[in-house]
Amino acid sequence: MSKIWIDGKLVDSSEAKVSVFDHGLLYGDGCFEGIRIYNDRIFKLRSHVKRMFESAAAIRLQPGYSIEEIEHAIRETVKINERQNGYIRLVFTRGIGTLGLNPFLCPTATVFIIVEKIKLYTDEMYEEGMSIIVAQRPRIPTQCLDPKVKSLNYMNNILGKIEAIDAGVLEALMLNIEGKVAECTGDNIFIIKDGIIATPPVESGILHGITRRFVIDDVAPTLGYTVEERDIELEEVMAADEVFLTGTAAEVIGVSHIGDTAIGCSKVGPITHAFVEEFRNRVAQDAPED
Ligand code: PMP
Repeated sequence: MSKIWIDGKLVDSSEAKVSVFDHGLLYGDGCFEGIRIYNDRIFKLRSHVKRMFESAAAIRLQPGYSIEEIEHAIRETVKINERQNGYIRLVFTRGIGTLGLNPFLCPTATVFIIVEKIKLYTDEMYEEGMSIIVAQRPRIPTQCLDPKVKSLNYMNNILGKIEAIDAGVLEALMLNIEGKVAECTGDNIFIIKDGIIATPPVESGILHGITRRFVIDDVAPTLGYTVEERDIELEEVMAADEVFLTGTAAEVIGVSHIGDTAIGCSKVGPITHAFVEEFRNRVAQDAPED
């Protein structure tokens, strides 16, 4: 049985419980991170914990722990679970409160850390490319709830995911309210045309993906590419030679079809293949923890 870190204690997973009066549950009031462990190293731990604290600050949630304390708790939880490879879920909720929205009537945040195995997609999907759709539903506008805040309120993404599942696939591309390409329900998107790689800018209303940043700043330069961060139209995605997605859980994965449209030669293209390989090598050898 795995051990969960909850409010300062390590307990058996069967004992790790959150109250029905917790505003994380009642209102989706809180924030979270997904973090990966590769060969005993916690990939981009500092970046994830920093983003977590930025999300918390954006919703005026005080977790009651410092960045260093949370990092220490994460390392402790990984260690006690003896997990060399896997996935960490870090959650801050607003905590226990009344049956009213007021977040400031919740005196103490609930903080927990889960360490588990993960496998999002099949090996075949990485080799052959995955099929996705374009969701009808746009990504929530930044003025309403900025997608850069990784809040527990993931209903916009979940409804996009349901559109994908209804269409028989596992991921959906979401446009922003202006109709430009934003991101998928749980992944960022990159397109390649005539050897030039582009991805929507953070201003398009997306989560500032840590895998996305690593691909732009580290993987691409190693392979001799630069990535343009610019507005992208849906037509460009459909006409791209290659499309790939990035995310902590998904890592780097090629897209073969979007709806009925085949991308490139409907396989994982050569540049995507190089990115998948380089990403895997980098994290397997010595995953950066910064
Ligand atoms: N966009 C959304 C909406 C996400 O939830 C995620 C994380 N699953 C990503 C992009 C990818 O971000 P990261 O690389 O930091 O995991």
